[in-house]
Amino acid sequence: MERTTRYSKKRQAILEVIRGTSVHPTADWIYQQLKPSHPDLSLGTVYRNLSLFREQGVVKSVGVVDGQERFDADLSPHSHFICTQCGAVFDLHTMALDKGLDDTVEEQYGHHVSHHDLTFRGVCHTCCKKRSKQDTANGISS
Ligand code: ZN
Ligand code: MN
Repeated sequence: MERTTRYSKKRQAILEVIRGTSVHPTADWIYQQLKPSHPDLSLGTVYRNLSLFREQGVVKSVGVVDGQERFDADLSPHSHFICTQCGAVFDLHTMALDKGLDDTVEEQYGHHVSHHDLTFRGVCHTCCKKRSKQDTANGISS
């Protein structure tokens, strides 16, 4: 009984960390956040709970960035931009999802689309700024 309580407390703590951040964390990031307050937590427990959450539809996977899966507790339909330079994952909440894409899939393949999400990859605004600063410092003008 006590075991169960302790177990679900950890589960709750893991979920709160994901819900409380917009970084779209990795399992390791979540583990690092909780380690100080939960010294007996293991990375394996974080992984186990993440796959459970995903099965339950409580969190979703955004994709793998630099070999590490990224998670999102925001289940509202939205797209993402992933920076290939710094690994940051940004929400594109205000970008309207194109209903035309759903129609295209239905027309061309006959599948019924309930929703879609897009993942864009490239260099984020912060990395772009850094890059142009470096170019200026190196005497390269764009
Ligand atoms: Zn970046
Ligand atoms: Mn997101």
